[in-house]
Amino acid sequence: MKAKKQGKITEAGFELCGVGRHHRYMEENSQKRWALRIIEQLESEGFKARFAGGCVRDELLGKTPHDYDVATTAKPEQVQTSLGKIKAKLIPTGIEHGTVTAVRGKSVAEITTLRADVSTDGRRATVAFTDSFEVDASRRDFTVNSMYMDRHGKVFDYFNGKKDIAANILRFVGEPEKRIKEDYLRVLRLFRFVSQHGFAVEASSLSAAKELAKGIDSLSGERVWSEVKKTLSGNHALIALELMHGAGLTAALFGVAGEDPKRVAAASAWKHENKEILLWGRAAVFFPTKQSLATWKMSAKERSEILSFVDSVAWLGNSAEFDRKKLGFALDETLGFESVVGSLDLMKWAESLDRLEVVQFLHLDFEWLKQNAKSLEPLRVKQLPVNGNEMLELAESLEIKVKGKSIGNLFRILRSGYYMGHWQSKIDGLRVLKTLLEDGEDETF
Ligand code: ATP
Ligand code: MG
Repeated sequence: MKAKKQGKITEAGFELCGVGRHHRYMEENSQKRWALRIIEQLESEGFKARFAGGCVRDELLGKTPHDYDVATTAKPEQVQTSLGKIKAKLIPTGIEHGTVTAVRGKSVAEITTLRADVSTDGRRATVAFTDSFEVDASRRDFTVNSMYMDRHGKVFDYFNGKKDIAANILRFVGEPEKRIKEDYLRVLRLFRFVSQHGFAVEASSLSAAKELAKGIDSLSGERVWSEVKKTLSGNHALIALELMHGAGLTAALFGVAGEDPKRVAAASAWKHENKEILLWGRAAVFFPTKQSLATWKMSAKERSEILSFVDSVAWLGNSAEFDRKKLGFALDETLGFESVVGSLDLMKWAESLDRLEVVQFLHLDFEWLKQNAKSLEPLRVKQLPVNGNEMLELAESLEIKVKGKSIGNLFRILRSGYYMGHWQSKIDGLRVLKTLLEDGEDETF
């Protein structure tokens, strides 16, 4: 009986998710099947449970949801007891706010008890549980995000989300000003959804977002970065960033770099099939210096990957006259970060900037780069007249201990000196190295 029911559901999932992308199909269906299993379990115990928010929106848009959230009348403890019976691994993600994460293998679903706002302060809400899907929908941000779908595929739509999906419109649920003042993150979320889905923004929603844009100052760095990176990664980033620029938001977020409309265009012009590299290249356009990145609440990996682009831009941008050695160095710096960003990526980046005639702006000689990128490769580490062993031997003879991380950094400094023409022979190289080893505080390496 059960197997039959699941078979049917799987078929529906297949249709909704689109045939032909078999690899993704496997994954998305295991995610969806898991969420469906959870809904069935909760309903078998007399609770109501439905898919909620982003996954319903994505399915109606014909896109593949990357995760499935469940909304339920069951209280968090009831969710835990009920799902314990189907051997879900349970994580009380935000239990006081009503959210439990249920994991099985690689499948993850978030189950949230229906909620009503008791009070809000522009950053976070105090909530109470409710039995009403409509009340829960009324506290969601946009009409397109406020829908639910039951396990049979029936959509519950209290605020005309379907109509807005059909018309491709992003509109706040309720009165825009009031909704933004409850949580200023919604200003950034508005532009984020424009960037991801290409929505046109309903007039009063857009004007309220522009008027209240300043409110984002009060938000935590983590929440801001999370929305900003999704905005930068979107397929419609240009429209979103131009709107944000018009609202003074790019300046509020990125300072002087964000005031420059050329950077808005340059960031959006960078395309890459790898979503992460896409993000790093776009973000780097707004961070002209290392320092400008320092205050952002991002992961160490994100910071270092963005930095590999930033460094290249800084080198290229700072040379008043185009200097090929510097370009070679910049390229090598990019490679030297052990980043997945290689010279080819940087070249493509340059190309996308070229198309917008902002190469001058970055002082980038793209043609030269294209011709020489390959020949720059052999200049890399192996070809340096001083090798790693010699480096370690020298350190040992000077009785200086160098850690693994320091070795990499030492090498980077040595290598850049070589490309910049500060030393060429092995003897000179070892002399430079000796100075570096003797002078360097460990943390400077
Ligand atoms: P994505 O597919 O990118 O995850 P999403 O719509 O699922 O998009 P989430 O940030 O995961 O976005 O939020 C899930 C749902 O929770 C949203 O669809 C929306 O209904 C609601 N939501 C999230 N954050 C807010 C907020 N700050 N204000 C109001 N509703 C919100
Ligand atoms: Mg989501």
